[in-house]
Amino acid sequence: MRRDRRDRRNKRDLEIMDLEEDTRRTGKRRPHARNVEFAVVTYAFLLLFISLCAYFVYFVSFQSEDFINHPSNARLSKLSDTVIRGNITTKDGVVVAKSEIKGEKEVRVYPKGRTYAHVVGYNSNGMAGVELERNFQLLRSHSFFLTRIANDLANKKSQGDTVVTTLDSKLQETAYNGIGSYQGAAVAIDPDTGAILAMVSKPDFDPNTVASSWKSLSSGDNSSSVLLNRATQGLYPPGSTFKMVTALSYLQNGGKMSDTFSCSGALSNNGYTIHCYGGEVHGQQDLTQAFGNSCNVAFATAGLSLEKGELKETAERLLFNRELPTTLSNVKKSSFTLDGVEDKALVMQTSIGQGNTLVTPLHMAVIASAAANNGTVKTVHDIDHIENDNGNLVKSFDHKNSETIMTKEEAKRLRIMMRYVVTNGTGRRLNVSKYRAYGKTGTAEYSSNKRQSHSWFVGFAKKGKKKIAVAVVMEGAGSGSAYAVPLAGRMFDTYLGE
Ligand SMILES: [Zn+2]
Repeated sequence: MRRDRRDRRNKRDLEIMDLEEDTRRTGKRRPHARNVEFAVVTYAFLLLFISLCAYFVYFVSFQSEDFINHPSNARLSKLSDTVIRGNITTKDGVVVAKSEIKGEKEVRVYPKGRTYAHVVGYNSNGMAGVELERNFQLLRSHSFFLTRIANDLANKKSQGDTVVTTLDSKLQETAYNGIGSYQGAAVAIDPDTGAILAMVSKPDFDPNTVASSWKSLSSGDNSSSVLLNRATQGLYPPGSTFKMVTALSYLQNGGKMSDTFSCSGALSNNGYTIHCYGGEVHGQQDLTQAFGNSCNVAFATAGLSLEKGELKETAERLLFNRELPTTLSNVKKSSFTLDGVEDKALVMQTSIGQGNTLVTPLHMAVIASAAANNGTVKTVHDIDHIENDNGNLVKSFDHKNSETIMTKEEAKRLRIMMRYVVTNGTGRRLNVSKYRAYGKTGTAEYSSNKRQSHSWFVGFAKKGKKKIAVAVVMEGAGSGSAYAVPLAGRMFDTYLGE
């Protein structure tokens, strides 16, 4: 028996040797080589499969919302077949957008109309505002599961989730009414969290009638378009509010708070002359006093003392020419272009906020909130959380990211100057005992006709631990202290209490 087996094994060995010999002769592949090839193909497929799995996980975790949210995606219209578009509310629970079923049709209704037009947006003829940003969440339903099953069986739609914004309804109304019939924008931020408390842009529109009045709404050039959200997309000359930037740059490059400037009402350099506002002569002042008086002579002098690129470096640290840290879409970048120091006229103009610099009101509110918050800016956002139709939390957002745009010491110095504006300068109307206000006014000329200017106020106020930063611009209204300051005051009153 044993011998038999040995014989068989030997025979098989011989056969294999023969086969190898055959392969060598005939050029046919050996079974061993075929195995290696098979393994390579298997591993390649395995690798491909793992990559696909990894991409799928990544897509579901990070990309799917953007993809599904894309207006041209058919899946969204599918969602709207089974879900009634959810509500949008303010932080304090006022419903500002909802869907009503009228017969077979679902109609989008905006109970507060024009007051929230730009920030909440609309859901026809394309989308805008929160309606666009949170389209995906508005079309999902986390209703009680038995209710959803019952609705599915009855072929009925389930109620979509509610998007709760960070807006404060009273503050939004104050800002809206305060701009009145002027064009312009008002925006308020909580400096501690980056939450947008109010955002108004004028001219406005009624979101309830966007579809029927689309033709007239969408015509006209970009600057006069009523659909433009001036708070995030309006680019304005900053006027004297830019002196916050010039003052910081002066301090960052060797200047001192105690340095004195002499103002005779005008300053000439290389054949170009600038004047102080209203023909005023401010005499001897330190930096804080010059800031409080909004003295053009002092700030043009400070600007001329800077080296090439220094003002630009400060401006870019303060987020000029850069994206603002925000979850909002379609926010314009503020622009600062002064590079050289040869063109003295341009240096002088730029230092006092004229020249070619352009800013958004939102950006100016961000700079004010940095001053209030020791130099740190939190991610600017307008959504607090998502909840289901029973008010149960579906999703909260982590906005803990922050960016330091000035040092703690610089923020403190800026606060000293901004406080002086309120106690002794152009913002004296805000010098009240119920809260502590800080800020900078601006009167930004926007045409060769000097009587045409935008009225600006940028600043913040606090009472106890509660803080609010604002930027207000009223187009063509005239001086900042006469128009923008009183509106900022009403916003502070509303938010911090009378
Ligand atoms: Zn002056």
